[in-house]
Amino acid sequence: DHQKAIALRMNNVTFAFPGDSRNALNHISLSFPSGSKTAIVGPSGSGKSTLLQLILKFHTINQGEIFLDDHPIDLVSQEELWKRANVVLQENHFFFGTIRDNLMIAKEGLIDDEMEKTLAKVKLEHFSLSDPVFEKGENLSGGEKQRLAIARAMLKDERLWLLDEPTSSVDALTERYIYNHILLQAKNDTLVLISHRLTGLEKMDQIIVLENGKLIEVGTFDELMEKKGYFYQLKQIEKSV
Ligand code: ADP
Ligand code: MG
Repeated sequence: DHQKAIALRMNNVTFAFPGDSRNALNHISLSFPSGSKTAIVGPSGSGKSTLLQLILKFHTINQGEIFLDDHPIDLVSQEELWKRANVVLQENHFFFGTIRDNLMIAKEGLIDDEMEKTLAKVKLEHFSLSDPVFEKGENLSGGEKQRLAIARAMLKDERLWLLDEPTSSVDALTERYIYNHILLQAKNDTLVLISHRLTGLEKMDQIIVLENGKLIEVGTFDELMEKKGYFYQLKQIEKSV
């Protein structure tokens, strides 16, 4: 795929869940340039998942605009968005049929050598899933669903990655394996990673810090580390989730 990776932009986005008087996100302006790698961090409840859900059009924003390249997302169907991105949600993974069925949609029903290799990996190696041919997606545990979602995203190979704490249920070694593979695979792609750990943040082009629905910092790992006490603060964030 030689196409340039999708760029994302949020312009002054404000959103409140229906019936909630507080804004889940307040006046967020952000740019995710084509090919850039961004991590979003912040305490639990700060609005990280909501931000990703807005990009995926799960909710309608109250104010502001989101652009996919230069097109307002209002003009892009949710189906198209879903098709163009490798997505791992934090929860509510949607699966139908067997593990294999769910991996096959990533390849639009085509089973090739790569697919067979991935199935073998899914079954035997790092993803520790049960039999992909017979096990139903809906019967998997939360952790297994998350690993299936990662495998599906990695197999899908689109140029935009939207990942919400994708490794929260895996051990440190598996996390490293997954991050290494994703970063290699996403080399020229636009990647947005919501992270609850510090692992891998130094490799990101920008780190975004949210607190109470507000954007409080944007910078590189080194820039954030230079701020007095910031490392300590990030450590606290890591501990609090
Ligand atoms: P994070 O991912 O940073 O932990 P979330 O984006 O999940 O935070 O949540 C941000 C805020 O929005 C929290 O106060 C949370 O309680 C609230 N929230 C999240 N989902 C819903 C929902 N479906 N309905 C109402 N409030 C919600
Ligand atoms: Mg979240």
